[in-house]
Amino acid sequence: MIRSLLLAGIALASAAPAIAQHDLELPAQPPVLPPPPMAAQEGSDWVIYPVRDNVFMLSGPSGNVAVQIGRDGLAVVDTGEAGEARDLVTQIRRLSDKPIRYIFNTGSDAAHTGGNTTVAAGGVDLVGGSEGSGLLGNGGGAPILAHEQVMFHLLEAEIYEGLPTLTYFVEQKDVHFNGGPISLIHAPGHNSGNSLAMFRRADVVAAGDVYAPDRYPFIDIDRGGSITDYLASLNHLIAITVPEFNQQGGTLVIPGHGRLSDEGDIGEYRDMVTFIRDRVKAMMDRGMSLDDITAARPTFDYDPLFGADAGDVFVGQIYRSLSQEGE
Ligand SMILES: [Zn+2]
Repeated sequence: MIRSLLLAGIALASAAPAIAQHDLELPAQPPVLPPPPMAAQEGSDWVIYPVRDNVFMLSGPSGNVAVQIGRDGLAVVDTGEAGEARDLVTQIRRLSDKPIRYIFNTGSDAAHTGGNTTVAAGGVDLVGGSEGSGLLGNGGGAPILAHEQVMFHLLEAEIYEGLPTLTYFVEQKDVHFNGGPISLIHAPGHNSGNSLAMFRRADVVAAGDVYAPDRYPFIDIDRGGSITDYLASLNHLIAITVPEFNQQGGTLVIPGHGRLSDEGDIGEYRDMVTFIRDRVKAMMDRGMSLDDITAARPTFDYDPLFGADAGDVFVGQIYRSLSQEGE
């Protein structure tokens, strides 16, 4: 800024060509990368990454958690495995001692809901009182908001603690919190109950199992997963992310598992999933069996990243999913 003001001053003081030269000067690009992680606390398995505008990514052994801090208190997206929850709460308390007012679950897997009870107990129900806190209440703890399918999956698994206390079943559920909207967007595919959680003011999305760049997608067909829904949800995620410069920066995405990402990263991942789905489909259309397709290794060029065994599992899931759709 100071440099460009000086240049402008020189330009004004001299002849026209200097002004033209000044016009060619591009403004400095703001940094596209968020700041580095905070130093990990000794004995803790979690690493805290400041993302933007008081939204943090907490990265633990089982996956990522998003925390937003503001005037109303804390919103927490996902709660990790049960065994990591006390450590997680300790790490959240390093950031703020304000009450946890909301918990959002992006899906029903234990890696995302296991800590619900422990994290909710550290919270306070903001919507209690006259409005009530939904179906079950939460003993005064923070309300837990998720797609209704999350509740169904947990009940099917005979899990009765840490259940969502507020559920939604429409395409999108918006909550106004900390001076801006947080949107839960239904994004099925991994299973039937996944959501994207978007901090709209900070322009940060917690993607849960819609996007995990450290592994192949997992299509949990027994819980309503589908490769077609999965790709649609990945494309939905791309549609709501806006790059800042050269497909980098802009909307930041906290994956369910793996490193902080931007739209360019998700585009590459989507392309991979599309290539593999298309290969499996083309082989199915030629009448090949699952064994033949697996032997042809449709994931061969990505297996060095994610592992050949995981590739075989993914191919089997695509095959099963597409077979069901064809019925
Ligand atoms: Zn997950």
